[in-house]
Amino acid sequence: MSRQKLIMGNWKMNGDRTTLHALVQHIKGIKPVADSEIVVFPPFVYIEKVAYELRNSPISVGGQNLSQDENGAHTGEISAEMLVDVGCKYVLIGHSECRQRGETGETLQHKFIKAVLAGLKPVLCVGETQAQRLEHKTEQIVLAQLESVLNLPAVASFLPQMTVAYEPVWAIGTGLTATPQEAQKVHEMLRGAIREKDKTLAEKISILYGGSVKGNNAQHLFEMPDIDGALIGGASLNGEEFKTICHMIG
Ligand code: PEP
Repeated sequence: MSRQKLIMGNWKMNGDRTTLHALVQHIKGIKPVADSEIVVFPPFVYIEKVAYELRNSPISVGGQNLSQDENGAHTGEISAEMLVDVGCKYVLIGHSECRQRGETGETLQHKFIKAVLAGLKPVLCVGETQAQRLEHKTEQIVLAQLESVLNLPAVASFLPQMTVAYEPVWAIGTGLTATPQEAQKVHEMLRGAIREKDKTLAEKISILYGGSVKGNNAQHLFEMPDIDGALIGGASLNGEEFKTICHMIG
């Protein structure tokens, strides 16, 4: 079974109306190769504008986070329904920059359920810190992060909607990247954990790599059998580099 290839650009808290408009003009003509899908995650306040500007392009839009709560008295929060309303198809869950601000496994479970019920496709981010890596705890940490969602009885029927992104925290925004072989090892282990639960699901779920993916290292990562694409931060803000990476998947 061939899995969906995905290239995702996480714009984080960068840009303004002018610079993001220019970025959209640069990328909206990208033609996804080999049935891949391209997704960008603008800051909340620009999602609707970006989604509108990309309405005739094959590029989808997602939210960088969402609230675990229903619409109501939750100052500063953004609900799953709101993301759908402004044009989102995907949402990131458990990005390490959110985990570092105190997001817990339980919060993520609520977010996952809210996302799928609203019709969003959740992208569950997992990854170990440098200290955990040096203590040889990578497997233990990323498996626990995956299993906090995978083993939720309430979500079994939702799991086919999920994408997983393995993002070693030490590689995010640092210029350091896991080697293709290091990343493959973790991806294989993650897919193995999914396989233990459901063989068909394991072949279907896309597992992306994230952590300083650039035009000069993406190709070798994409050659690995269990790497189905990338979640890209810094390089996704450069239209030309993002385009180059999008054309490498195949
Ligand atoms: C990210 O934050 O998801 C990310 C992978 O960032 P960068 O590509 O800049 O390391």
